[in-house]
Amino acid sequence: MKEKTNTRMMLRVGGILLVIIGVIIMIYSFVTLFGNFGPSFVEAKQKSITWLGLSALGGILLVTGGIMFYFSIIRPISKYVANEVSPAITTASEAFRKGIEKAVREKIIKVKCPHCGYLESEDAEFCSKCGKRLRPLQ
Ligand SMILES: [Zn+2]
Repeated sequence: MKEKTNTRMMLRVGGILLVIIGVIIMIYSFVTLFGNFGPSFVEAKQKSITWLGLSALGGILLVTGGIMFYFSIIRPISKYVANEVSPAITTASEAFRKGIEKAVREKIIKVKCPHCGYLESEDAEFCSKCGKRLRPLQ
C-alpha cells in the first residue's frame, strides 16, 4: 500500500521534472535557432541539426513526462472507482436480482397456453382465457 503511494509520487515528481526539462531544452533549442547564426552557411546548417536534435529530445521528454504524470493521476481515479463505484454496482445488481426474484414469486413469468396461446401464470393449472388444462395430468 505504502509502496504503491511511493511509486505514484515518483511517477508524479518524475513526470513533472521530465516536462520541465523538456520545456527548458525546447526553449534552449529555439534560442539556439534564433540566436546569432554566424556568417557561414555550414554553421547555420549545423545549428539547425542541433536544434532538430534538441527539439526531438525535448519533445520526447515532454511526452514521457506527460504520460508518467497522467498515470500518477489515473491510478487514484481507478482506486476511487474500486472503492466508491463498485459497491454501488453491487447494490444495483443486488436490487436487480431481488427484483427478478420478486417477479418470479409474484408469477410474472408466464407460460403459453398450448390451446389458445394466452400467456398464463407459470403455476396455473388451467388457462384463464379458454379454461383448458395448460399441461397434461401427471
Ligand atoms: Zn388457453
